[in-house]
Amino acid sequence: MKPGPATAGSNIRTTTGPMTETSDYLAMVCPGAGEPLRAERRPLTAPQGQELLARVLACAVCRTDLHVVDGELPEIPYPIVPGHQVVADVVATGPQSTLAVGQRIGVPWLAATCGECRYCRAGQENLCDHARFTGYQRDGGYAEYLVADSRYCLPLSAGLPPAETTPLLCAGLIGYRTLRMAGDAHRIGIYGFGSAAHLVTQVARRQGREILAFTRPGDGAAQDFARELGASWAGDSDQPAPAPLDAALIFAPVGALVPQALRQVRKGGQVVCGGIHMSDIPSFPYADLWGERQIRSVANLTRQDGREFMALAAEAGIETRITRYPLADANRALDDLRCGRLQGTAVLLP
Ligand SMILES: [Zn+2]
Ligand SMILES: [Zn+2]
Repeated sequence: MKPGPATAGSNIRTTTGPMTETSDYLAMVCPGAGEPLRAERRPLTAPQGQELLARVLACAVCRTDLHVVDGELPEIPYPIVPGHQVVADVVATGPQSTLAVGQRIGVPWLAATCGECRYCRAGQENLCDHARFTGYQRDGGYAEYLVADSRYCLPLSAGLPPAETTPLLCAGLIGYRTLRMAGDAHRIGIYGFGSAAHLVTQVARRQGREILAFTRPGDGAAQDFARELGASWAGDSDQPAPAPLDAALIFAPVGALVPQALRQVRKGGQVVCGGIHMSDIPSFPYADLWGERQIRSVANLTRQDGREFMALAAEAGIETRITRYPLADANRALDDLRCGRLQGTAVLLP
């Protein structure tokens, strides 16, 4: 296809794997807030400008996808295809694409930035005033194909197994940024032991830190899973920590965990919230914050984070625990995540 733009609606010839021709593809589309995804055939369109067209190999399911489906984020432009942890192969490119046909890529959450606002100019493109996000404001990876801006795709080595690599692209990346915000904290409590936590635990253990896992009360399976991955202690989130924490990372979207975690953190320690959405935080006595304790959030990722973390993950051999679902079963995967029936990450396979 390169370099000429194909005529929209024409057949797109894929150049990887057996030569196939297709003019439409399956996408799992969220029609509106609170509605189940529905399967749709969509015509393939040719990538324009700096865009590329990629054939999806696997797409992991993130808690943020639930917030999109449930309408918990502002101004969602329904209908939208969720999914922002995508491993794909480039099959066609617009004339100004920075990546070539045949390249294996990761398509993460950050889909575009303005490059001009104060945050973009200061190296904080994760906070860009005009950022756009994959699977939220641009159609994402719950589909057989997707179009993305090549400048925001992460080139991946073809040797990485697609399904196992997908959770690194958000859970891993955001988890890593969350861990970094905890500075040199040694004893770290993690609240919500799902996709991000299982990756962060491995990174933190390799850095010689101690991890304590706080799960939904009574979730013995998640607690066993955490110990298996190297957590020195695992228990219910409403239990006190066996020793004061240097920092707490919260991945569960439950605001009540913030004051609970804060009470377990030592003076000067911090509580870092890694989720994009959380229920309201209940009030708590100022004494719990006193002692220079801090509460902060982590928002999105930069491309630099993406490159750094993917290199680190490949080197450190971070293992991902996944459960595979056919793409057409995306609703079942979302339900399993919602009900806490998953360990590790759900991955959709076209
Ligand atoms: Zn900007
Ligand atoms: Zn995500």
